[in-house]
Amino acid sequence: MNKIVKYKLNGKDVEAPEGRLVIEAAKDQGIEIPHYCYHPALGNPGNCRMCIVEVAGAPKPQVSCRTGVREGLEVKTDSDAVKRAQASALELHLVNHPLDCPVCDQSGECGLQDYYMKIGQYSSSVREDKEHKGKRIEAGPHVMLDQERCVLCTRCTRFVDNVTKTHELGIFGMGHNERVEVTPGMTLDNAYSGNVVDICPVGALTDRDFRYKVRVWYLDKTDSICPGCSRGCNISVHANTQRPWHNDGKRVARLKPRVNMDINGHWICDDGRYGFSSLDSDRLGKVLRLSPERAELSWFDAAHEVAAKLKDSSIAVVASGMLSNEDWAAYKALFVDALKVQGHYFTAEPDQLGEEDALLRRKEKVPNLKGAEALGLKSGSFDELKKNLEAGKVKTLYVIERDLTKIWGDKAAGLLAKADMTILQGPNKYALGDSFTYRLPATAYVEEEGHFTNFEGKVQAYKKALAPIGHARPDWDIFALLKKAVIQPAAKVAA
Ligand code: SF4
Ligand code: SF4
Repeated sequence: MNKIVKYKLNGKDVEAPEGRLVIEAAKDQGIEIPHYCYHPALGNPGNCRMCIVEVAGAPKPQVSCRTGVREGLEVKTDSDAVKRAQASALELHLVNHPLDCPVCDQSGECGLQDYYMKIGQYSSSVREDKEHKGKRIEAGPHVMLDQERCVLCTRCTRFVDNVTKTHELGIFGMGHNERVEVTPGMTLDNAYSGNVVDICPVGALTDRDFRYKVRVWYLDKTDSICPGCSRGCNISVHANTQRPWHNDGKRVARLKPRVNMDINGHWICDDGRYGFSSLDSDRLGKVLRLSPERAELSWFDAAHEVAAKLKDSSIAVVASGMLSNEDWAAYKALFVDALKVQGHYFTAEPDQLGEEDALLRRKEKVPNLKGAEALGLKSGSFDELKKNLEAGKVKTLYVIERDLTKIWGDKAAGLLAKADMTILQGPNKYALGDSFTYRLPATAYVEEEGHFTNFEGKVQAYKKALAPIGHARPDWDIFALLKKAVIQPAAKVAA
């Protein structure tokens, strides 16, 4: 840690570690200095010239992203000279900028719009025609490039050069023709490509999945944890409930990273960012008995019917690392403490395994196997379960949030049919959803609050972003309801 020095910021005596960049030291004091190229995780090339400040004794304004704090430094971020310098830097950025705001996805969260309203508001002195560049360039499967809107800050090229080291974007051409381009022969398809949309301060790089779906000011934002793997990246769920007729009626419009330097830094992977379609499709909403007679049940009746059969059966439970810590605790109270079940199966199998890398992605594609481990729960092997099913040793198979066809392939339906009673609990129906005896709808993680424990043992909270679909309840609530029905079969359970 550098020694603390005293300096003056807009006339006020303040302190900062020696050498801390003025742009960062000012932010520590609650003062946001306009900038495009500086990014805390990507460095400070100093090319956008927006973060200009006045430094006492310097012959001309300085860029605050390349000026370090020192003892006795005197900095002004809001003087007339600073405002004039920032306004002319902004005017230069806008010389060839198109008037796309009404149709630009960045509108409402755009660095050009925001600074124009704050420090610009001039009539352009440029009378020449604007230079035109490429628009609607499919940079990769997730990202669209509009070269005209680019301010050449180089954040995106620094990301693919220094973070993913995949080099799919570069700055090409000179002068007015200078532009961001996809490197010839390449496609922006690395596992973290969506991050360039977040770091682009303007609408030059936009998200193909989100494009034209909903205006950003209609989005509700909720802090959450990505359930896509055991890293537990911090995310924000952006939900569109104010304009449900937009985005094909889908409630979740996009997921964005939240900064947590201990977990994910500034980034999330594309698997997590775009893997949310199951939140608004293939959902279970009704409490159903499917056989022998199909009927929609109340939670009370379902709990008592299922509980009565659970009590006198040899049970195997297939669970999932999608359960929260709260769910696992209620799971243990029902299946271990009340029902004394021996067969628990929740390891990550092919349905929940995928690629990993040194940046963020972990191979187990569920967020909370550690939560089960912390309670002392142990999983048997799926091979053992298969053998027990084939030998007719499992009378009741209780499946929580798993697609058995992705574990056992074509054999899954036959294995399921070996049990006398089968229960599917979870948010989604999956391939064999019509083949179970009962279906109990559970909330998705965006419809509840809870905690996940990541692979390093860090416990993190996620919040409720949306109302549950239909009659879905949190898993812990379903377990508690069943436990009550197991312990007090004659009692009326308030369902
Ligand atoms: S990048 Fe910003 S200023 Fe440019 S068109 Fe989009 S919203 Fe408007
Ligand atoms: S595309 Fe965006 S992030 Fe890349 S240089 Fe242009 S403005 Fe910066």
